[in-house]
Amino acid sequence: MRFVPRPRPEGIGPRRIATSFESATGKRTIRELDARGQRVFLRVDFNVPLSDGKVVDDSRIRAAIPTIKALLEDGASIVLASHLGRPDGKVVDGLRLRPAAERLAHHLKMMVPTTGDALGVGTDDAVNRLRPGELLLLENVRFHAGEEKNDSAFAARLASYGDVFVNDAFGTAHRAHASTVGVAGILPSYVGLLMESEVEALSNLLDKPARPFAAIVGGGKVSGKVAVLEALIKKVDLLILGGGVANTFLVASGRSVGKSLYEAKMVEHARRILKLAAERGVKVLLPVDGVVAKEVTRGTEFKVVSTEKLPASWHMVDLGPDSINAVRDALGPVKTILWNGPLGVFEIPAFGTATRELAKLAAEKAEAGATVVVGGGDSIAALQQLNLAGKMTHLSTGGGASLEFLEGRELPGLAVIPTSGSPYETLPIAWHGPEVEKKAKAPVKKSS
Ligand code: ADP
Ligand code: MG
Repeated sequence: MRFVPRPRPEGIGPRRIATSFESATGKRTIRELDARGQRVFLRVDFNVPLSDGKVVDDSRIRAAIPTIKALLEDGASIVLASHLGRPDGKVVDGLRLRPAAERLAHHLKMMVPTTGDALGVGTDDAVNRLRPGELLLLENVRFHAGEEKNDSAFAARLASYGDVFVNDAFGTAHRAHASTVGVAGILPSYVGLLMESEVEALSNLLDKPARPFAAIVGGGKVSGKVAVLEALIKKVDLLILGGGVANTFLVASGRSVGKSLYEAKMVEHARRILKLAAERGVKVLLPVDGVVAKEVTRGTEFKVVSTEKLPASWHMVDLGPDSINAVRDALGPVKTILWNGPLGVFEIPAFGTATRELAKLAAEKAEAGATVVVGGGDSIAALQQLNLAGKMTHLSTGGGASLEFLEGRELPGLAVIPTSGSPYETLPIAWHGPEVEKKAKAPVKKSS
């Protein structure tokens, strides 16, 4: 099935096509779009944590608001699309997007209707009734198997809901799905303001960090972070490790960690990263002491020990006071910080000391003028518990996408958007079919 973009609404020309919109992404952003009277198919990432049918953390929803507001104020109507969780192509009632719509409605102070399905006659009707300044949220696009397969027919159905496509789902930009990549091959496409600011903040880190530049990596597992650690070793001056990640590195450097979480399969990788760091003169800070607990539960017995002699039947669940002091000293001269992953099992307050101390330290550094970028749902949650999230230079909402970007990998959802300054209907080369090509080359009328 081939889909041809519908003509621009009568009398509405792309007034603002320009090459002067400097964008860090190098991509065409909504600042180059005259959205007046347009129906925008806007991909957002509302993949938020839910508990008992309520949104626990609405950071990702709030992060999408600048783009939504800009488009509505410009006189567009918006068809919002997102996924939530992993329903694997089936309808899962617990993964409906209504709770997300309620949060958005609360912040926008306007109605945000949801559809019962991303497709279907009822949805077509609701979309057709949208007037400028109004919006609706399609039901979870992953209820359809075509979404994750980037099925062209499914993409075409979604594309029929918009005159233009805006991708603001940075957190899903590493996935080539129908609503991130497929639609971009059909409609004139732009990136939103969140996508732009995420890419800008992360590119600045990689390309021109003020030095010294420190990465702090914690969290549960090394496995998802090996690639980013390897990439970061080539960029940073200092690498501080905590959490379960540090445990695997402790094993790699010859220590035993008792019952602590660590990944035997990752020990070799950790050794390689340590070797790489030594070759490059990157300082690696491993915990010198830790809080060990009988069990990883609330109310259990715990004590501080040196990481030289971690007891065989205990779990290391947090950094100890000497390690926290070492982190503080090491960060003294640092001008750029990238932090991903809590330093301990912070969900249990007794094991959250290092994470809380680091959060305060990061806030102090940011206030003193350092660039502090924090990524990862749990790390951001820790900052929010302390009311410190707002102090950071940038909070990356991306999760996996942020990590892949930092690894230097191309994000398909970003790659597929035409470059800044491209005329309105330019489609990505890979998707140029004969009809689409003709349309794309047709002269575009300017209204003023
Ligand atoms: P983020 O979401 O910030 O990227 P991760 O998801 O990688 O962070 O890791 C967060 C998880 O790591 C938390 O659930 C935390 O309890 C766990 N964690 C941190 N330190 C340890 C540790 N020493 N042992 C076991 N789990 C840990
Ligand atoms: Mg996490």
